Amino acid sequence: MARNITPREQDYSQWYLDIIKVAELADYAPVRGCMVVRPTGYAIWEDLQAKFDRAFKETGHVNAYFPLLIPSSFLRKEAEHVEGFAPECAVVTHAGGEELEEPLVIRPTSETVIGAMYSKWVQSWRDLPLLINQWANVLRWEKRPRLFLRTSEFLWQEGHTAHATAAEAEEETVKMLNVYAKIMKEDMALPVVEGVKSEGERFPGALDTYTCETMVSDTKALQAGTSHFLGQNFARAFSIQFQDQNGEMQYAWTTSWGVSTRMIGAIIMTHSDNDGLILPPRVAPVKAVIVPISKDDAAFAELDAKARELADELNNVLGPLTVRVDEQNHMRPADRFFYHLQRGVPLRLELGEKDAAAGTVRAVRRDTGAREDLKWGELAERVPAILEDIQKSLYEKACAFRDANTYEASSYDELKARLEKGGWVKCFFAGSKEDEKKIKEETQATVRCYPLAEKDRTGKCVYTGKEGAHLAVFAKSY
Ligand code: AMP
Repeated sequence: MARNITPREQDYSQWYLDIIKVAELADYAPVRGCMVVRPTGYAIWEDLQAKFDRAFKETGHVNAYFPLLIPSSFLRKEAEHVEGFAPECAVVTHAGGEELEEPLVIRPTSETVIGAMYSKWVQSWRDLPLLINQWANVLRWEKRPRLFLRTSEFLWQEGHTAHATAAEAEEETVKMLNVYAKIMKEDMALPVVEGVKSEGERFPGALDTYTCETMVSDTKALQAGTSHFLGQNFARAFSIQFQDQNGEMQYAWTTSWGVSTRMIGAIIMTHSDNDGLILPPRVAPVKAVIVPISKDDAAFAELDAKARELADELNNVLGPLTVRVDEQNHMRPADRFFYHLQRGVPLRLELGEKDAAAGTVRAVRRDTGAREDLKWGELAERVPAILEDIQKSLYEKACAFRDANTYEASSYDELKARLEKGGWVKCFFAGSKEDEKKIKEETQATVRCYPLAEKDRTGKCVYTGKEGAHLAVFAKSY
């Protein structure tokens, strides 16, 4: 039945791009590496934004906005940060027809400019904690761009917080990781593993980077979001200092955390099939579509009126504008069904003349194709229940797939052999940044994280032979 979509088994990358195309989620921009987010894709982003924004506010954060342009000298203030980001930065050298005295960097992330502002705003322990988030676009000159997963310009949020103690900042870092993981699991139905990054994969300038790693349907890993404990590195570089309760000057402890439009790529790659997009109901802008069908104009008008009535009723229960009526009666029914199927609408409710005579609609699930006839009077109860069931089964399926494709290795040879076949491989690892680099050259895989849930498991490192190594997950990644 798949039309216009390359089968996943044949060419995974092309399958992914075909889904984005047929579902009209995004398009290539005139500038390589940039992306146009089309209305259907943007509706998903707005929905994710609303969920994350609410969770940030519930945990005490507020929104603000900082500028796009950063003096290039700011980036140089934190040595590791500049080293990490310099190759990805785009720099403005001319403006107003003149060469600028100081080049301006288009923000790749905003630790530096926000650090400079925090140093003005923080004086005393009473000014802390500062808990600010911004929704913005950032620019990182990506060499291997891929729609949503890795674009040069992308949309994201970046939280930046400053605290009086290390313990409080560390607590914040983990708290926000958990906020991310909860939405990713419960709403996006992603099989996320929370963990700590290895030295080689840490954010430039951070003491610790925490991550939500997820497995997509070709068994590769994708970093879906990160939360960084920055220690006092940025506070020292930007003089974020405060007088503590004993009247002594101290540097603040800071954190930053971000999720981006990459999450849409994670949803597409995790759930979709060869027919098109599959969206978990909780993040689907359109949760159900009612399709009135008749070749007879008068009969169609009646069915259409009934469909609108049912849609109104469902919208009261599921939220405004989440249930739509398809009025494309000029198209063949099969084409109308396929239209919504490709776009990932979780539930289709068909309303033909026979259904109307019986006072029912024919409900068809996007995830399984299962059909059942629902009485009009029970829709307000049954439709939300079916959507919840789709939500739950998509998450369970994704977790089962992750678990079935996660292996353990007890030697380096075993790790290499296993990685060649794909999947995630767990093993004890205590190698250095250089060791990680060598392993990447040999296997193309990296340490995705040290899973927090297994942080007490220790053993002999498969690479260095050191005892007391922690359990790491290795995988190829996007
Ligand atoms: P970072 O500040 O580098 O930790 O980035 C925060 C999050 O943004 C990462 O965890 C990714 O999920 C996402 N991200 C990083 N680079 C890109 C990119 N080029 N395109 C889309 N998302 C990105």
